[in-house]
Amino acid sequence: MRSCPTNALLVEAGIPPLHLRRIYLAKKFIIKKLSFSRHPLIPLLGQLNIKIQNSPYWRRKTIPPLIIAYRFFFEIPIHRSPSLLYFTFPLSAGFISNAVNFDCGLEKGDVNSPVLSNLIFQNFLSLNYPNKDYIYTDASKTGTQTVGAAFYHSNAQISCKFKLNTKFSIFSAECIAVLEAIKYVLQSHIADAIIISDSKSLLSTLSNPISNPNNSYIISLIKYELYKITNENYSVSFIWCPSHIGVRGNETVDLLAKEGALNGENSMYQPPYSDLYSECRSQILEEWQIEWDYSSKIKGSAIAALQPVPILRPWFDGLQLDRHTIVTIGRLRTGHNCLPRHLNKIKIKNNAHCACGHDCCDENHVLLECPLLSHQRAILYRNFKSQNVALPINMSYLLSLNNINILKYIAHFFKSSSFKCHTNFSLLSNNP
Ligand SMILES: [Zn+2]
Repeated sequence: MRSCPTNALLVEAGIPPLHLRRIYLAKKFIIKKLSFSRHPLIPLLGQLNIKIQNSPYWRRKTIPPLIIAYRFFFEIPIHRSPSLLYFTFPLSAGFISNAVNFDCGLEKGDVNSPVLSNLIFQNFLSLNYPNKDYIYTDASKTGTQTVGAAFYHSNAQISCKFKLNTKFSIFSAECIAVLEAIKYVLQSHIADAIIISDSKSLLSTLSNPISNPNNSYIISLIKYELYKITNENYSVSFIWCPSHIGVRGNETVDLLAKEGALNGENSMYQPPYSDLYSECRSQILEEWQIEWDYSSKIKGSAIAALQPVPILRPWFDGLQLDRHTIVTIGRLRTGHNCLPRHLNKIKIKNNAHCACGHDCCDENHVLLECPLLSHQRAILYRNFKSQNVALPINMSYLLSLNNINILKYIAHFFKSSSFKCHTNFSLLSNNP
């Protein structure tokens, strides 16, 4: 409905306001450019930044989003290099593919006994990988406060723990743990090593024989170290092991990573630029929340009741609903629909009367009371019963359940009542 307020529509669509999106995109752009140490834009932005601070002309102007982003991220340490690291290594390093085993016979939640899990895993190792050197890796991140990584060579009981910059994502921290483990294998001349990690996403990336040059620089470094290992005729294979199920080596390295976050050796590596994207995302959500809290008090309160916290996707995302259901439910959510009460409110109708004689025809009247719809309502209530809907009900309560079946029943109720709240209200009202 055209009468629906813009702030509520944006929240429904999961799209932040334009002025916030502009700064968000500028931040993502600048972070990427900052990762290239010789990018020509950076010194130009530096000059413009100084001009903006000193020139009277800029005092009355809005600061450009690129300068806001530049000021925010310039001091933040990220990995910088003249070009993508991938292209500085031999071409064949990008095609290194080491064996990765994702099937150790254990899945998270399969076995409740830590002792049994450990036994199964140790049996799996001794049967499939006997007489090898086992190196466990893990990382730890506590909110935005601390990040650590560690590896643990269980045969030799040697471990190393690292304290990382707090901007590292957990994925990148896992990468550092594996990178340090591979460097250790090379330095210690371990001929046949098995690296055991609980990071499925990292091992999936490593199992891909073709590297993406745009992957994190740490992935390129890992591939390069693996390339060196292959040239030395050493062997490294990877095994995925579920975390927190009692596998002794994994539990040990988990503790070491947590300790590393507090008192480990300071790592020489800086976070990849892409790790700061999540910060851009949290910033835009925070700013949007402040604006939504304020603006929804003026307009859009019905949506604020259902969606007090804005998210970056629409409410129907992934729900597999047809267009009719999405439109009907969307109009019921916003309260901006063709029911007489709303049409009266926006001065399209002279009154809010229902065809049954009731003086206020809104969503709840149609759903709960209107005698003209008693037959359809009986079917609807039977359907609600099958979904164990607790009584008493009203439209806001039903919509807040976010139950896909209930949403479908409500949309069907309006359709079967020949009462399409988005197109036709003639059945319920004879008084335009
Ligand atoms: Zn009625």
